Amino acid sequence: ARLGAVELEPVIQGALSLFGNRLREEAVEVELQLPDAAAPLRVRAEEVRLEQVLVNLLSNALDAVAGAPVRRILIRAEAVEKGEGEEGDAVRIEVRDSGSGIAADPVEQIFDPFFTTKPVGTGLGLGLSISYNIVRDFGGVLSVAESGPDGTAFVLTLTRA
Ligand code: ADP
Ligand code: MG
Repeated sequence: ARLGAVELEPVIQGALSLFGNRLREEAVEVELQLPDAAAPLRVRAEEVRLEQVLVNLLSNALDAVAGAPVRRILIRAEAVEKGEGEEGDAVRIEVRDSGSGIAADPVEQIFDPFFTTKPVGTGLGLGLSISYNIVRDFGGVLSVAESGPDGTAFVLTLTRA
């Protein structure tokens, strides 16, 4: 993998722009919380594949809020310190939706290839397994931080570059 220092905000904007029509038509409110633009966040990644991960998470978030009374997606990114003994700082990217939570028990199986709860012909069940592997290739972690009746939050932790 050609890993390098990738500026995060343009990648998030790029992923969001692919969903412009759907966001408008389905009246989904998107909130983007990024730190001061004067100090842009950079992560160790490969731009195209990072965008693919964000597209997959946003696509799922949009499916999750479809038909929900509150249709809201929050994307938040911040620099965080890694745990003791770990080197360097990290960037935590959260993609949170106001859907009704993950309908899988155990939740972790959503990362399995071909696991889907969507009608035949819509979901292939590959988005999260591909995303999981991409993030692992970056040396990062993709996980479910929260899931319940008020929605779901995925967290992507990457090395700060
Ligand atoms: P697909 O979207 O094709 O079903 P994914 O790998 O992207 O495949 O997701 C697998 C499954 O994980 C989905 O079918 C759904 O059950 C669950 N899931 C993923 N994201 C969310 C979310 N934001 N809210 C609720 N469930 C989700
Ligand atoms: Mg999907």
